[in-house]
Amino acid sequence: MLIWWTADPTLVWFSISSSPNTQATGALLNITQIPFLVTVDTEADDAWRHPDRIRLDNLTVLPKFQALCSAYGVVPTYLLTYECCSASAGVTYIDACMKAGACEIGHHLHVWTTPPFEQPGNGGIDRAWLHAFQFELPNSLFQDKAETLKEAIKSTFGCQPRSHRAGRWGVDQRTISWLVQNEFLVDSSVVPGISWKRQTGSASSGPEYLLASSGPHRWCSADNQECLVEIPASALPLRPLCHLALRRLARQSAWLERLHKRLARPRMLRPDPSRDVRELEEMMITLVQRGLPVQLMLHSSELLSGTSPITRTEEQTTRIWKQLERVFSAAREMGLLPMGLSDAASWYDKQNLQAYSPVR
Ligand SMILES: [Zn+2]
Repeated sequence: MLIWWTADPTLVWFSISSSPNTQATGALLNITQIPFLVTVDTEADDAWRHPDRIRLDNLTVLPKFQALCSAYGVVPTYLLTYECCSASAGVTYIDACMKAGACEIGHHLHVWTTPPFEQPGNGGIDRAWLHAFQFELPNSLFQDKAETLKEAIKSTFGCQPRSHRAGRWGVDQRTISWLVQNEFLVDSSVVPGISWKRQTGSASSGPEYLLASSGPHRWCSADNQECLVEIPASALPLRPLCHLALRRLARQSAWLERLHKRLARPRMLRPDPSRDVRELEEMMITLVQRGLPVQLMLHSSELLSGTSPITRTEEQTTRIWKQLERVFSAAREMGLLPMGLSDAASWYDKQNLQAYSPVR
């Protein structure tokens, strides 16, 4: 048995595994309570390579995913795009589990699949804004699309969504103000330490969160009247010192940004068949040591073979499912508190969080 004293004296990690294949299972004793969140961007098949078509085969595996979550007491938050609000394959099931309190439903805005459409394409696509970031839209169009999705969720599920993630992580101050006005409690679009500048939307480059805080914080509306809670995605640099040294410099030139990406870019807590699951488990331990929430993020399309770039084969998909089970098991053994995004926001809202805007 390995006893590992952490920097925080309230935390002691007992590794209780005896098999080399289960090294990272264990139990945290006398734990400071830490939320465990599983957030699922629930959207069309392979929205990366095929944003111009909508197929929803991946929703057929949601019952299997929910069963796995429920077996471990995990309460996933399904952040739904517009096209998923009317898909019979997944909606009936999600509706039932939400009513049972086993999951939460949130708002995930893909502006190119959400009406009104400026340039309608085949099958529910706005060709004028294909793969655009929501911050690129004119004010009225952004509000109309955000409102359409909110109302679609309300009419389908009979509930007001309280949680939001921007499509392609493209959150901005305008989105936060809209969310606050519409009684959302939480956003989870910030990925601390990561820059998406090399990715393009309609015409702009992507958001940049190199200097964003990793901890939950308040993010207030533009008039500073009211705030919601920002719970950033879980991301940690594999080489923290290198990351600290390079993150400011990375904003200044393309080659420094490439250097940062290569040497020190944080990695998200996401299942990925190319990663060793022990890396995910070690990330969870580090997050707990730092008192940060543990948020596993995935796309619904990563749960089915052939519907995402990282699950092209059955073997890759099997690895994803095995990783999910290992992460859920580790979370249970660590004594983390499974909850949906809005419950986590209410939990953090009682604490003395700082107000802070990671982007304008
Ligand atoms: Zn998405």
